[in-house]
Amino acid sequence: MESDLLLAGSLTEFLSAEAVVNDEATLNRYAASINGTTCRPAAVVFPVHTDDVVSLVRWANQKRVTLYAISRGRNLGYGDAQGTAIGQVIVDLSRMDNILEVDEKLGTVTLQPGVSQGALYTHLTERKSRLMLDVTGAGTAASVVGNMLERGFGHTEYGDRFATVISLCAVTGEGKIIRTGFSGYSGARTASTYRYGIGPMLDGLFTQSNLGIITEMTFELMPRPEAVSMFVLSSKNEDSLSAIVEAVREMRLSGVVRSAVHIANRSRAVGEKDNKLVGAWNLSGAITGPSAVVRAKKRYVKKVFRQHVSRYSLWFFGKRLLKIVRWIHEHIFRLEVYNALRDIYDLQTGVPTDEPLRTLLNDDRLNSSELKTGDYSTCFSWINATIPANGEDAETAIQLLEKLFKENDYEFRVTLTAETPRTLVLISNVTYPRTTAEIIRAQDFTAKCSSALINAGYLPYRSGSGMYDNLPAIPEETYSFLKSIKTATDPNSVLAPGKYRI
Ligand SMILES: Cc1cc2nc3c(=O)[nH]c(=O)nc-3n(C[C@H](O)[C@H](O)[C@H](O)COP(=O)(O)OP(=O)(O)OC[C@H]3O[C@@H](n4cnc5c(N)ncnc54)[C@H](O)[C@@H]3O)c2cc1C
Repeated sequence: MESDLLLAGSLTEFLSAEAVVNDEATLNRYAASINGTTCRPAAVVFPVHTDDVVSLVRWANQKRVTLYAISRGRNLGYGDAQGTAIGQVIVDLSRMDNILEVDEKLGTVTLQPGVSQGALYTHLTERKSRLMLDVTGAGTAASVVGNMLERGFGHTEYGDRFATVISLCAVTGEGKIIRTGFSGYSGARTASTYRYGIGPMLDGLFTQSNLGIITEMTFELMPRPEAVSMFVLSSKNEDSLSAIVEAVREMRLSGVVRSAVHIANRSRAVGEKDNKLVGAWNLSGAITGPSAVVRAKKRYVKKVFRQHVSRYSLWFFGKRLLKIVRWIHEHIFRLEVYNALRDIYDLQTGVPTDEPLRTLLNDDRLNSSELKTGDYSTCFSWINATIPANGEDAETAIQLLEKLFKENDYEFRVTLTAETPRTLVLISNVTYPRTTAEIIRAQDFTAKCSSALINAGYLPYRSGSGMYDNLPAIPEETYSFLKSIKTATDPNSVLAPGKYRI
């Protein structure tokens, strides 16, 4: 490979000088991950048009350089903005940040990858939209598109985010522009509403993959419901997990509860803080709809919990009650639980917040748009798995992981999220000081946990740079099929080689 300097010089032949950055500080920032590892790129480029991306891909083919695309690079705990190998050119799409169209009637949005969840929220609020977006806990500066491409999940009824994608525009490894669904058919009246198009559906090929750089996406937005009631359950009983999972599955399968439902152990809910309201297991979800429907749904939720779980506390919070709790918290006495309740309610009602990040990094002043992950003395890494939504499997996976955490002296923090009615996504994390020894120890530990979960049949839902070795091998036939697509569409393997083991 040519020296980094020459490389940057050749990039400015078709990109503006401001669009090519390779100063030390920038490279170090993109190299650093919150998990404590580094992976230094050769340069960072900031395209502003799909045509720039096409030129970049053609250039990469000529120079035999590899590219790694990010939307906003907030893949925190999954490798952040790191590429799949050192010396890559990071294609940072954060300057492609236009919200191209919001269709109020049909409830859709078309946008570019650089749009953050904060920017989309502000845009919808300013135009007094009746639509809301599903948000994740990754902070206001995290992208919408990058998260969807990773098949991340949020907190509302549209929490299974990939399921809301209608179409996307991708630049392939040869520099061809592909539009999925009907969006590539001129004059198609359902281009922004009908995800299936005709023939094979391609959108999935571009998620968790290295087959294209996405420059545009259309997806569904949720009409803001007349009423939202957040329900919160806590059980002091350590053995209640199985019963809670059975209840959650029943209410998700019935379709009465349509939001993602999060079940957290005590450590994940409040850390080491003393809080009498928090139990061994804690759960939150939301029911929405016209007020009369929400009232009926509440009765149903109460009934299902009564049938399955013993000894628990269950609360419902609407906007008004939460305001009262806030007033008490601010004027009468401090309610430790208020901040946590407000954060969950925000997420359930489509308001992005930096609070989960602040809590995780113990930094009350953190503004996610200025986050420099290399600056924090605390590091963390995720461990995740998919589990069928039944009590027995949930218990097995939790026991297996808890034992490993105890043996290795890490605090066990875990959530199980009913992202879909039939599957729970387990998310756990280790937090450790930024020292070489602790970083290596944590990497070994997360690899050990992933492998134990995989051996027990609980395969991961997602991975990231520096973590792909922890994934199970792709079945031979599937691998060969994917490999032939990769070779045909990206013959020089210029797009993120090795991502998700492809
Ligand atoms: C406190 C905290 C809370 C979190 N909560 C959640 C949560 O609720 N739900 C959740 O899912 N995650 C969560 N995360 C994990 C992560 O931070 C988010 O998923 C975040 O949205 C990812 O960053 P991003 O959106 O900026 O995407 P990016 O970092 O830009 O991209 C993510 C991935 O997609 C690929 N990619 C991005 N854009 C493109 C493109 N245009 N073309 C091709 N490939 C592309 C990248 O190569 C990368 O692999 C959380 C993390 C933290 C620290």
